Amino acid sequence: MQSVNQKTLSNPVSFEGVGLHSGQKSKVTINPGKEDQGIIFKRIDLKKNNLIEANYKNVTSAKLCTTLENKNGVKVSTVEHLLAALYFSDIDNAVIEINSNEVPIMDGSAKDFLEILKNTKLSSLSKKRKYLKVIDKIELIDGARKISIEPDDNSLEVDFKLNYENQIIGKQRNKINFSNNNSDDIINSRTFCLFQDIEKIKKAGLAKGGSLDNAIVVDQNKVLNKEGLRNDKEFVNHKILDLVGDFLLSGYRIVGKIKCEQGGHELTNLFLRKMLDQTKLLNVFELNNIFISKRLKSNSFVKLAVNA
Ligand SMILES: [Zn+2]
Repeated sequence: MQSVNQKTLSNPVSFEGVGLHSGQKSKVTINPGKEDQGIIFKRIDLKKNNLIEANYKNVTSAKLCTTLENKNGVKVSTVEHLLAALYFSDIDNAVIEINSNEVPIMDGSAKDFLEILKNTKLSSLSKKRKYLKVIDKIELIDGARKISIEPDDNSLEVDFKLNYENQIIGKQRNKINFSNNNSDDIINSRTFCLFQDIEKIKKAGLAKGGSLDNAIVVDQNKVLNKEGLRNDKEFVNHKILDLVGDFLLSGYRIVGKIKCEQGGHELTNLFLRKMLDQTKLLNVFELNNIFISKRLKSNSFVKLAVNA
């Protein structure tokens, strides 16, 4: 996933499904994007002010999902799993048309999105992809919730710790290096909730589209989904999936070791705001065709710009 040039889709792909929180059916078409455009959502159910840039600064709510909002108050929510799928599909630029305010939840993971995105080839654009690397540790601590990033030569690594009182979820930890480890368990891991919280969530007007088809529901000592779990660490793996999707809102491919404890969408967004403010600790890189093969030997990135 370390490409020199930016990439987009060669043809549009579409899918339909139900929003986890709204319960509304919607259709999404992912169209090719222009270079340096990034990921843009387009609410085609609205005539004007309908573009919403997938940028961390546009996150206005991150309670149970990530919601993006433009300056005219037009929103799109539950974007995180689709953004993670774009990360894993190696797509930098796309215009995502949607006819409602929420991305369909599909099966609760990024698996269906990846399957759909396999139906299009990628095209390489002339501009180079931008990678971001930290030169020193940046950390955010909020009580028991912690998140940090430390320098790494050439990969993104995520080390996530989860600690639930529930006996099924309990303490889970997983560390994934996205250059060296297989990402399938991350991609396939579904969103989850505690059975005891469902009534409260529904009273708040959320999870109207939630079901055992799109979320793992955990009672005190059992998983209520008949098929059980998809992998041993599905809970923490889903948190890693969320984090990867939310980090794409930085506008860069991140190179570094991220450690997170008890985090979620909200902490990740606070952290992105803190991290991207510290420009003296950030390096923005492009890769170069000649050096990408050398890099595999020397294990270091080619630095083209400092303090961007
Ligand atoms: Zn999620």
